[in-house]
Amino acid sequence: MIDQAYYCGLVDKLREKRDLSDEELRDVLLCEDGEFAAYLQTAAREVRELHYGKEVYLRGLIEFTNYCRNNCFYCGIRNGNPNVERYRLSEEQILSCCDQGYDLGFRTFVLQGGEDPYFTDEIMVSLIRKIKENHPDCALTLSIGEREKESYRKMFEAGADRYLLRHETADKAHYEMLHPKALSFEHRMQCLHDLHDIGYQVGCGMMVGSPMQTTEHLLKDLRFLQDFKPEMVGIGPFIPHHDTKFKDEPAGTVEMTIRLLSIIRLLLPEVLLPATTALGTIDPMGREKGILAGANVVMPNLSPTDVRGKYLLYDNKICTGDEAAECIRCMTARVEKVGYKVVKSRGDHVRFTSEQTCK
Ligand code: SAH
Repeated sequence: MIDQAYYCGLVDKLREKRDLSDEELRDVLLCEDGEFAAYLQTAAREVRELHYGKEVYLRGLIEFTNYCRNNCFYCGIRNGNPNVERYRLSEEQILSCCDQGYDLGFRTFVLQGGEDPYFTDEIMVSLIRKIKENHPDCALTLSIGEREKESYRKMFEAGADRYLLRHETADKAHYEMLHPKALSFEHRMQCLHDLHDIGYQVGCGMMVGSPMQTTEHLLKDLRFLQDFKPEMVGIGPFIPHHDTKFKDEPAGTVEMTIRLLSIIRLLLPEVLLPATTALGTIDPMGREKGILAGANVVMPNLSPTDVRGKYLLYDNKICTGDEAAECIRCMTARVEKVGYKVVKSRGDHVRFTSEQTCK
């Protein structure tokens, strides 16, 4: 028997925005009691509904290049994997994905890719301008890895609104176990701070159950999120990819991922929190469970069907064969089935909903 009063008290404390000690936060992370898990999720749902009601925001994900100069040990499209058929979409293809997405009701596009040197600042700026010219009522999110502050600034000035760069882990030693020497924890953190300074809505996040991850690492991740106060947090389970050195490592679990979604919702009540594709990959109901745990964003794939099977960060990725229209239909039905509603809106963070973002 667990001490219900103690554990539920911790959730109440989180909901009331009172800080927990490390000891208490560790207890919230690790308590295996089913009733406690349900209590935590209910609290997270209440907080999300207070700020965002039943609305779920859509982001159209365009995976526009799988070329990458990096070699992150966990990632299927790392540079050192010779078995990837590389592709990059042309400007015309990207613009046409956006047009198609717009007609389907998307008001945010996410350009995600490997760190592909082909996409210089000049090329990115021209692309961003065109997307924003064609769709001035849409938000544009970039997720193209580490760049210099000047580069981030140019892309922001061209019209990009948001930037996703997961911190991956807030522990330097753990970061070094997941990445080659060419990538540094300090530079990743620097990038995140630069992005915030410039004025982007910034997203960070970590994989859940990544190799060698401990509860202490997760605790550090949560402390980092509390301190950095990102507008968005992307978390999903680690899933092994067969062409990486982590191929035999176990995947992260649905239970821990949704537990973290709920805790993050309580720590950052207004955060934009996606129920990710990786969560849908390890459990057919993963994204629904994510929404019921406090997530308020879903990111259906808008990439052309013929390249989807080539953007494989991990094994068994879902939705690699579907058309965009089918993805949005399926996602809308899934969201409605659990009592929420997909909306046609930019879905900005509440701190960014004024004229500020009307560029
Ligand atoms: N190049 C960009 C986009 C990376 S892909 C960048 O570096 O930001 C987006 C995210 O996918 C990564 O940040 C990582 O957290 C996640 N990812 C990569 N490999 C994964 C794997 N094997 N399992 C689960 N998530 C993975």
